[in-house]
Amino acid sequence: MQIFNTKTLRLSGCIFVSWLALNSAIAYSQIVDVGLLHYHKIPEVLVSVNSGEYELWGDGAKIIDLPYDAIISIRINRQTIEVKGLNSNLGYYHGVHLKSIKKLGTLKLRAVKNPPVSNLYDGEIMVSVGEDKLTIVNRVDIDNYVAGVVEKEIGPSANMEYYKIQAVMARTYALGNLNRHNSDGYQVCDEVHCQAYDGKSTRRRDIIIATAATAGIVLADKKGELILAAYHSNCGGETRDAAQAWKSSRDYLQPIKDTFCLDARSAKWEHTITREDWDNYVSQFISDDTYEVSKAMVCFYQGKRLTYYKSNGVEIPIKQIRRDWRLRSSFFDIEEYSDGTIIFSGRGYGHGVGLCQQGALKMTELGYGYREVLSFYFKDIRLVSHSDVD
Ligand SMILES: [Zn+2]
Ligand SMILES: [Zn+2]
Repeated sequence: MQIFNTKTLRLSGCIFVSWLALNSAIAYSQIVDVGLLHYHKIPEVLVSVNSGEYELWGDGAKIIDLPYDAIISIRINRQTIEVKGLNSNLGYYHGVHLKSIKKLGTLKLRAVKNPPVSNLYDGEIMVSVGEDKLTIVNRVDIDNYVAGVVEKEIGPSANMEYYKIQAVMARTYALGNLNRHNSDGYQVCDEVHCQAYDGKSTRRRDIIIATAATAGIVLADKKGELILAAYHSNCGGETRDAAQAWKSSRDYLQPIKDTFCLDARSAKWEHTITREDWDNYVSQFISDDTYEVSKAMVCFYQGKRLTYYKSNGVEIPIKQIRRDWRLRSSFFDIEEYSDGTIIFSGRGYGHGVGLCQQGALKMTELGYGYREVLSFYFKDIRLVSHSDVD
């Protein structure tokens, strides 16, 4: 009897998860057109069916059914696309479409060079002639896309609750940026310019479950508009006001004190340079010819995050110092050792705005839920269904 009960419970759980994923897909699914290999000049790709059933269409008409694992070559040939099967020439077209005739299918796409690629993609693939290259588009359900983005960004070693955080942020970003590549013939690209994406999430099932469990959920501000879901690796103990880092401020991107990330690996760093290099650098920002940089003391502390380095009458934007010296963050102090070495003692990693990933991960390990974590880092935001956002 006990065994029967256990089996029943396990079975019920499985049915619930499957129903949840299915129901979420029906209720919230939205298609996204992702431009693949956006920055590369790809002359030829090889595609094949990995799962599901597909047809190959060219210029609006069906060419053939695509059998499982059959490899199709799609190659640019002047202003057309040449399509070949293993032993057959399938013709020349302006655009080809690998159409799924069952809802859940997966395609394998390989590029031989510029650069070599071999990825799996959920959904469909469309290829057309771009400027001296193929334009390759993956038409994919948003939750498959979000799972792929989360896997690329986070990898397989986080926990379920943390994956939910990244899934909500990735979905919010995607839905807020669907017009970014209108002129390219798709909605978002697969590079960090939009969000990095190498196709299907395959390395950790928790990523797919976390994405399904948050299906349709996005972050909105007090006015009900999608937020800019900024995040960084480690804030060093205090997140940064968006106005300090960028040109515009956001009500929800305010500085907060964060103790959760202080033991993480990126919490502290150091960078040393010579006094001579520092003097040469600082002298660029001085217009007074009589100012003797070499006699000035070097001493600068950020108890809380500041916008400018100000010392000895010199003023330099901190984000510029970070960029010029390639520092891990803009949250640093500067001191001079007795041997003349200048040391930057820094905290955190990244721009510091919005959610601190290492702090958020620690919060989930301590038992905080994804909603609590997102509300901790983004001030006065709401988690809403995308269908409720204008
Ligand atoms: Zn982009
Ligand atoms: Zn932090």
